[in-house]
Amino acid sequence: MSLPTAASGALFERARAVTPGGVNSPVRAFNAVGGTPRFIRSANGAWLTDVDGNDYVDLICSWGPMLLGHAHPEVQAAVAAAVARGTSYGAPTEPEVDLAEEIVARTPVERVRFVSSGTEATMSAIRLARGFTGRDVIVKFAGCYHGHVDSLLASAGSGLATFAVPGTPGVPESSTALTLVLPYNDRAAVEKVFAEHGDRIACLITEAAPGNMGVVPPEPGFNAFLAETCTRHGALFVSDEVMTGFRASKLGQWGLDGAVEGWRPDLMTFGKVMGGGFPAAAFGGRADVMSRLAPEGPVYQAGTLSGNPIATTAGLTTLRLATDEVYAHIGAAADTIKTAASDALSKAGVAHTVQATGTMFSVFFAEGTVRDFGDASRTDGAAYAAFFHAMLDSGVYLPPSAYEAWFLSSAHDDRAVQTVLDALPGAARAAAAAQAPELETR
Ligand SMILES: *Cc1c(COP(=O)(O)O)cnc(C)c1O
Repeated sequence: MSLPTAASGALFERARAVTPGGVNSPVRAFNAVGGTPRFIRSANGAWLTDVDGNDYVDLICSWGPMLLGHAHPEVQAAVAAAVARGTSYGAPTEPEVDLAEEIVARTPVERVRFVSSGTEATMSAIRLARGFTGRDVIVKFAGCYHGHVDSLLASAGSGLATFAVPGTPGVPESSTALTLVLPYNDRAAVEKVFAEHGDRIACLITEAAPGNMGVVPPEPGFNAFLAETCTRHGALFVSDEVMTGFRASKLGQWGLDGAVEGWRPDLMTFGKVMGGGFPAAAFGGRADVMSRLAPEGPVYQAGTLSGNPIATTAGLTTLRLATDEVYAHIGAAADTIKTAASDALSKAGVAHTVQATGTMFSVFFAEGTVRDFGDASRTDGAAYAAFFHAMLDSGVYLPPSAYEAWFLSSAHDDRAVQTVLDALPGAARAAAAAQAPELETR
């Protein structure tokens, strides 16, 4: 079966003539899986409808934000009421204060500053860490994505403890010359760079649980070890929860391990769910660190649309509706889909590994535990591409990349989940037929 795609194809042609690659963020293109991206006309609950009239169960949820599903009536009503009052004033508003209070109440941060994207949040957190410590070096992990910040678009140099090289053309060497890139979950590598450069390190930034190389959970105690190592060397521990915050669990990844193990980050970043489908993000943390930020302190940071009343209203409404029941529902749906996907792939003889952190999970088309970016790179891209297209043709919209989490919402009801379950066996057989021959797998 192949679904009609003429209208998407025509829009893609128009888009490519006026926009690089026809998309406004690269992963929306189907470059990794081939074919034409679907242009979405509308969405409701767990479902997307494309411009050709095809319906899909959405397993992307806007790459995380749509925790309550699309067009949630209470979020829509709050947003509509906010729009009726005007959309941006360039002066402070009540929804900003409400949302800041909600985030301070639910996370270890004592003060929070709003921005418009996760990229801005991590960029600003790093500037603040450097301003607070008076140091310049930053440490990150390979495979952790923190937005398109120059100094974080860095690849490991030729050995551990050597400084990074630009990860993309357009980033000057000087922008990554103060960045150290380490393998994830590797304590020895962390110890080595702190032993060598500890007194120059402003901060270590990590995804609280990586989701941008597929879901790679921190090994037990790894975040606690990072927090302790940073503290010992006078560096700040920056936990990037743009993806996991209010998504992996009600309290994010910090709630899954920090609250249990008794550590807290010095700075955190948030985005995605906290914007409720609008451009809103935040960074926050210790009061003494955050007070170094302008206008209270000397570290400059600003934004014309920061704390926008529509975005903060959508985010606040979403967080208030994100009850224990919401996370329990998403967790149960995730378990059903994870198990069924693994069963179908096993039956078809497709090498795979399912990994999860809280309600977030991903299916790697590779054998064995994925601990870091090197392991994730063993994924069989051809098998995933075949699987992706078979699922799409059966009405399930997966991430068009093998290195992503699958996202669910509280609107993923029995009908939506059953649509996914029905599609899996055929897609697993398609993946089996496309699998790289064993001798050629890296
Ligand atoms: C999505 C993401 C970002 C970047 O957020 P944008 O809003 O896309 O700029 C940063 N960090 C993590 C962990 C993310 O998942």
